[in-house]
Order: sequence, then structure tokens, then C-alpha cells
Amino acid sequence: MNTIPHWINGSPVPGTDTAPVFNPATGAEQARVVLGGSADVDAAVQAASAAFETWSQSSLSQRTQVMFAFRRLLVEHEEELGRIISAEHGKTVDDARGEITRGREVVEFACGLGEVLKGSFSDQVSRGVDVHDFRQPLGVVAGVTPFNFPAMVPLWMHPIAIATGNTFLLKPSERDPSAANFVAALYQKAGLPDGVFNVVHGGKDAVDAILTHPGIEAVSFVGSTPIAQYVHEQATAAGKRVQALGGAKNHAVVLPDADLEFAANHITAGAYGSAGERCMAVSVAVAVGDAADGLVEVLERKAREINVGPGDLPGTDMGPLVTKAAQERVENAVGTAQAQGASVVVDGRGRKVDGHEDGFFTGPSLLDHVTTAMDAYREELFGPVLAIVRVDTLDQAIDVINANPYGNGTALFTASGEAARRFQRRVKVGMIGINVPVPVPMSYYSFGGWKDSLIGDHPIHGPEGIRFYTRPKVVTTRWPQQAQQIAAGFDFPTSN
Ligand code: NAD
Repeated sequence: MNTIPHWINGSPVPGTDTAPVFNPATGAEQARVVLGGSADVDAAVQAASAAFETWSQSSLSQRTQVMFAFRRLLVEHEEELGRIISAEHGKTVDDARGEITRGREVVEFACGLGEVLKGSFSDQVSRGVDVHDFRQPLGVVAGVTPFNFPAMVPLWMHPIAIATGNTFLLKPSERDPSAANFVAALYQKAGLPDGVFNVVHGGKDAVDAILTHPGIEAVSFVGSTPIAQYVHEQATAAGKRVQALGGAKNHAVVLPDADLEFAANHITAGAYGSAGERCMAVSVAVAVGDAADGLVEVLERKAREINVGPGDLPGTDMGPLVTKAAQERVENAVGTAQAQGASVVVDGRGRKVDGHEDGFFTGPSLLDHVTTAMDAYREELFGPVLAIVRVDTLDQAIDVINANPYGNGTALFTASGEAARRFQRRVKVGMIGINVPVPVPMSYYSFGGWKDSLIGDHPIHGPEGIRFYTRPKVVTTRWPQQAQQIAAGFDFPTSN
């Protein structure tokens, strides 16, 4: 059986401990992945520190050329990488290609490095004195990423870190590790020097080694909220810069003036796409007033039309969940919701797919009359379950969203500009869609939620990515010809 190795200093590196990697569509173990610890992290940091000495001194033009070449390779190998992701994650190949495209957009942003890294200059702040600033890379930085976007989430991080002159250590999810090694090989082919991009696989041991390693300057984390909190606490205590994005419970509000067919179409895709395993998945539809009955009717019809099957079969809308444990957790949550008084309009439990009887499949579930006290509302289920909460007014819908501990994404379906404006100004959520169910910002904006969806104060990619992976220097300059005419003084220097 294939064992997926680490990737350190431009070469595969074996390990002794391993964990299984499953094919979620068949339920079969298809590979093993090495589980790294402090020695592997240390080896990767040594390689990355040595590479930093030269990479941080490379010209903007050299770095930009590598990014352009890397982008081209991502385009050329999109189908192949999409299949690798689908086989380990379970999502459809087209969906996997979509995440590669969105990740590639961050590489395109990084290709504009020369523009975004420009500093500023102030002429004559005092007689004969100028001030300019510029930004420099931090050193070795690390990324710890979740299973649900094995290509895109790391791509939120490493193109910007590397383009700004840092060297990178990625610790991807142990559930779908192969995409990371594939990307490492593409970087090498693109001309990135060995040691600039490294991959150490593993679980908690590898993460703990990263959080405490004195050679790592910054940690980017994306995953569930409890682990985001842990990573933030540990890594900031160790003096590192940290960006830590957590879980989500995303609400889509539907007003009575919305086009219900349009809203239901988009909410269905947002709730059940990628089997609900997206941090921006719609997991709650808040139906306002008269919208409720009509909305539930269309959502039910659409949920029943969803084609559940293996991700590599053309025509599949929704693949399996990532693990058996995830399948059981989601199906138990539907049972608990029913016991707590929710109406199960569509029941996805027990869904079998012909020829894939041992796959981790569950069908789409639609729950109506869910209250904010029920577990199905309070917990991040991270599966294909859509809960309908009924309220009377838009203000009540906003109150529901604002009382929820998460604040990643939200959407409003309406024909009213006034309602949309009120909603986007009052809601305590980081990313908002108006008639757009999954409002993932473009790569030149930053990505990040509020409240428990983001620990600390650093969103990811876009301008925030540049800021996160660099630190500023401000230089105040006076040249001798002018200086000779100005007497030195012992008082604190002031402008004159
Ligand atoms: P997870 O938190 O279980 O794992 C994320 C990473 O942390 C993995 O690399 C994992 O190996 C590591 N990890 C797990 N347990 C650890 C521990 N005890 N100590 C140290 N490290 C540990 O998340 P997941 O199940 O892989 O991904 C799904 C979660 O990620 C969901 O909560 C989802 O909302 C969230 N997510 C959030 C965003 C966002 O942008 N906010 C994006 C994608 C996913």
C-alpha cells in the first residue's frame, strides 16, 4: 500500500508512524500517511531557515516569475489534482476543480507582488529629511489546515507567504494529505528553490511541535473553533504571530419579497454542495413571515432531486462524507433534532449508493421548525443538513444571527435595497451575501469571520495576507550636505 511521505527540502522523507487514508466513496483504506513529530518539524524548519537566507534576498521579479509558472502548472494539472482531492475527500471532481480555481486566484494576487509590496515615501518631513517605509518577510512561517479544502485553504496561505519572501511549512489534514505533496512537486517544477515549501504530515504531535518551535515566526490556522482557540493560545504564548480561523454556522435569511425559486435553488446548492462540508455552507435558512411555507416546499423538492454518489462519477451532485465518524455524527444529529421536536421534511439517514454500500454516504436532510435551543441549531454539524428557523421580521432574523456564537458568513435574499442595507450594517458577521448564498470574497479582499469564527484579529489572504506575512520598517533619512548645516542637539528631535 502507498505510504504518503513528508516533503522536506525538495524531497520525499519517510516516517515510521502512519495513519490510514480512506476512500470515502468505498469506505476502503487506500493509503497510509506518515505521522510526523518534533524531529520532522525540526528538520523542515532547518531546511526552511537555510532556504530563507537566499529566498528572502531574491528579487521581486524572480519571485513573481515562480508564481506565474506555479499558476500555469495549477491550470495544467487541475483535473489531476481535482481527482486526487475527490478520491480522499469524497467531493465531486468538479467541486474539487472549483476549489483549485479559487485557490489559484490567490496565486494570481501574489503575481501582482510588485504592486502590493510598494512602500510609501514622504518628501521633506523636516528640512533635508525624508521618510520611507518598506515591508520585510518574517522568516519561517507555518500553515495548519483542515480536511475540507485540501488545496484551497493552504493556497490562501503559502503563495502570499512565499511571494513576500518567507519560507513555508505546511501541516495539512491527515485525512486527505496527498494534495499537499502534489502542490509541493508543482512548486519545484515552477522553479521554487528547495526548502522554501515543505510539508510535514501528522496530527496533534506535529501541530504541537509547530506551535512551540522557536524557529517558526508565524502560524496560520484554519479548522474548527476549539482547535483554533488552542492554536491561538499556544502560539501567541510562544511569541508567534497567529491567524486562526474557526468553525461556522451560516444563516441565509429569506424575506417574503424574495424570488423563492431563486432563493431555494441557491440555498440548496449552498447547503448540500460538498455534502455541507464547507466553512461557508448554508446550514440555517431563516424564513421570515409568509416566506416560510413556500420556501420549505421548494427546498424539499430540490433536496429530493439531489443525486448522491461517488465524487468521480459524472452527474453526481453530492459525494460521501469524509469519514465514517462524520457520517454517524450527522445522522445522529438528525435523530436528535427529531427527538427535540423538529420536523424532518427530508430524511437523509441510511442512504445507500449502489456498488458503494460501505461508502460514508448520507443523503440531504431538511429540518423544519428548528428552534435556536435545539442541538441541530447550536452545533456545527458540517454535513448535508439544512435547518429552517421561522421568524416574523427581518429584525428578528438579525437578532437570531447576532446571538449565534459564530459569525463567518451570512446571506439575505430580498428585492429590497433598504432591507439589504439594514442587514449588512447590523449583522455581526464577517462575510455577507446579498442574493449570494456563499459569499466567499475574491482573493484581493480578505477572508475571515467574526466572533468564534476567527480567533484573534487577523483575517486571511488579500491585503491582510501581505500584512500578516511581513513587518514594516520606517526609515528617516538625512544626507550629509544638508546635515552639516544643522546642529546636533540633545533634545528629542522635532520637525522644523
Ligand atoms: P480540525 O480542527 O479537526 O483540524 C484542523 C487541523 O488541526 C488539522 O490539520 C488537524 O490535524 C489539526 N488538529 C486536529 N486536532 C488537533 C489538536 N487536538 N491539536 C492540534 N491540532 C489538531 O478541523 P477539520 O475537521 O479538519 O475541518 C473542519 C473545520 O474547519 C470546521 O469546523 C470548519 O468550519 C472549519 N473551517 C473553517 C474555515 C474558515 O475559513 N473559517 C475554512 C475551512 C474549514
